[in-house]
Amino acid sequence: MQLNDFPADIQPHLLPSHAGRMVYRCLGCGEEFGIEQLLYVCPECRQVLLIEDLNGPRLKQIPGGLWRRIFDYRKMLTLTALKGIYRYHEFIGPVIPLEAVIYLGEGHTPLVSANGPLRDKVGADFFFKNDGQNPSASFKDRGMASAFSYIHAMTLRGAVPEILAICASTGDTSAAAALYGSYLAPRIKSAVLLPHGKVTPQQLGQPLGSGATVFEIPGVFDDCMKVVEALSEHYHVALLNSKNAWRILGQESYAYEIAQDFEYDVSRAVVVVPIGNAGNITAVMRGFLRFHEAGIITTLPKILGVQSEHADPVYRYYLEPDAARRKFAPVTVRPSVAQAAMIGNPVSMPRVIHLVERYNETAGRQRVFFSAVAEQQIMDWQLAANRNGHVACTHGGEALAGLAAARQRGRVEPGEVAVLDSTAHALKFSVFQEMYFENRFPAGYDITPRPELMNRPILIRPQDLAKVPAPGAPLAGEDFQRFVRRTAEEVAGRLNLKIRK
Ligand SMILES: *Cc1c(COP(=O)(O)O)cnc(C)c1O
Ligand SMILES: [Zn+2]
Repeated sequence: MQLNDFPADIQPHLLPSHAGRMVYRCLGCGEEFGIEQLLYVCPECRQVLLIEDLNGPRLKQIPGGLWRRIFDYRKMLTLTALKGIYRYHEFIGPVIPLEAVIYLGEGHTPLVSANGPLRDKVGADFFFKNDGQNPSASFKDRGMASAFSYIHAMTLRGAVPEILAICASTGDTSAAAALYGSYLAPRIKSAVLLPHGKVTPQQLGQPLGSGATVFEIPGVFDDCMKVVEALSEHYHVALLNSKNAWRILGQESYAYEIAQDFEYDVSRAVVVVPIGNAGNITAVMRGFLRFHEAGIITTLPKILGVQSEHADPVYRYYLEPDAARRKFAPVTVRPSVAQAAMIGNPVSMPRVIHLVERYNETAGRQRVFFSAVAEQQIMDWQLAANRNGHVACTHGGEALAGLAAARQRGRVEPGEVAVLDSTAHALKFSVFQEMYFENRFPAGYDITPRPELMNRPILIRPQDLAKVPAPGAPLAGEDFQRFVRRTAEEVAGRLNLKIRK
């Protein structure tokens, strides 16, 4: 739709004009730092940072009802820069000029309703929000679109001549970073560090395909992270892990989209998020809080953070009900099919602690909950979802396992509607489906396939046929007709098909 065709009261707001004044804010000492420099931790106390808009309070000059209509009308605008996460430009990056916005198709991911049989099995009404339908097939693209748009804005200003973007990854961060980095080639080069043998072949292929330099490091993700931190401390690199607060900002779009998908009434919504490094749940809590502050939503949804029992430091922290006595302790991870969340010492833990407190305080009651689920549950629920029309990855399965358990414990009540983050596409983690179907999970996973969920291809090779076609050697004439007839008969036999009269 053309600008002139929008309602007169919307026209002045369709293109963002709010002038942001963004700063890094330290969660330790509260100090403020300018965004002209790339900072990951507080130069004074080493704590993690969040980005804040000092002009944020001005957003309240526009009433909530008008914001809601602005975002709804922006959906109809055919302006590339505002198609993805920057539909919420005023909230995500009001200092990013529209010409600096990198849009590769991220955001606006579909909400897919659970069908009747799956709903009945879980005992709750729910949707998957398919963040696996982002360009690199995980939610990480939301954060990368934000971080790279910021870097792009800096390069356009001539602030930095050349950038090496670097990250440690459980697979998806590097895929996303390499993809967005390659869009800005040759000015931006990418390097990624992966734990050797701990990412799937698909995830390894992604940064290689995007032309990044890929390093495989012994150990697990937590070890890679330390190496990358050492690099960012001693060398000129742009760190793209979720320590980078620009990524958190971009990932807030997930919460904004849910609010908009629910026509801004999220009072009955339960948002279920799998947790690894805890950047995503940080962004989700913060997104809802900021929309609430601006009067765009009036109730905060319930949030359920889910971890695997094999990597559950956040869950363990909150087992202690008395906030004063809680003490964070990293855990040593064990093998997990939710491999992208196999993290024992989450970088964003201080952000989580800070935001959970604010979230519950603002809601006036406990609205954030945590649970841990067994590896077996994760796989069984993922496969159940996929047998009912979904493309959920193992982490989506983890979210669904968390919802089923919460429903059983009465933590999710009838009438509530859950939104499950399927954080990546099933195809990225198909190796675990294969292990399940072929019953060859190594012992450390503690997974025994359930026969009714297993599936294998069936080879059809009629024994009475002398000749079958082969690549480069097709059959013809009588041989070919016989092959087609006999093969069809065998397939029909396996399927118990009735003969047409
Ligand atoms: C990164 C990732 C997670 C974990 O998200 P955090 O922000 O690290 O908590 C979960 N699922 C997938 C598919 C991921 O790529
Ligand atoms: Zn500080």
